[in-house]
Amino acid sequence: MRSGDPTDIFEASPTDIGVTSSDGHKSVFSFHLLRTCCPCATCNDLRTKYGPLIINKDSLRVKGLDPVGRYALQILWNDGHQTGIYAWEFLRDLCTCPECVETKKEAPAAH
Ligand SMILES: [Zn+2]
Ligand SMILES: [Zn+2]
Repeated sequence: MRSGDPTDIFEASPTDIGVTSSDGHKSVFSFHLLRTCCPCATCNDLRTKYGPLIINKDSLRVKGLDPVGRYALQILWNDGHQTGIYAWEFLRDLCTCPECVETKKEAPAAH
């Protein structure tokens, strides 16, 4: 297992998903953030054409979380969308905890 692989995925609150990594790092992501950042081709396309996705925060729910192999998480949304595969590295990149924000400041992602 690489460091950073998740050991636990849990419901942090009725509107947030928490991920604990094998290095002990805990990230919390709101449903809304995850849905608007959905990495699937359809959403990428929509964002390229129309800008950020408009998602109704209040009605957005997660219906299921399916690990994809050892590298990613598939999220089933209540709006029927389920093609987004969230790689752990992608999720770590999204993390907005003070520690990650600090790290990003020091070493801007090189891509
Ligand atoms: Zn999508
Ligand atoms: Zn973090």
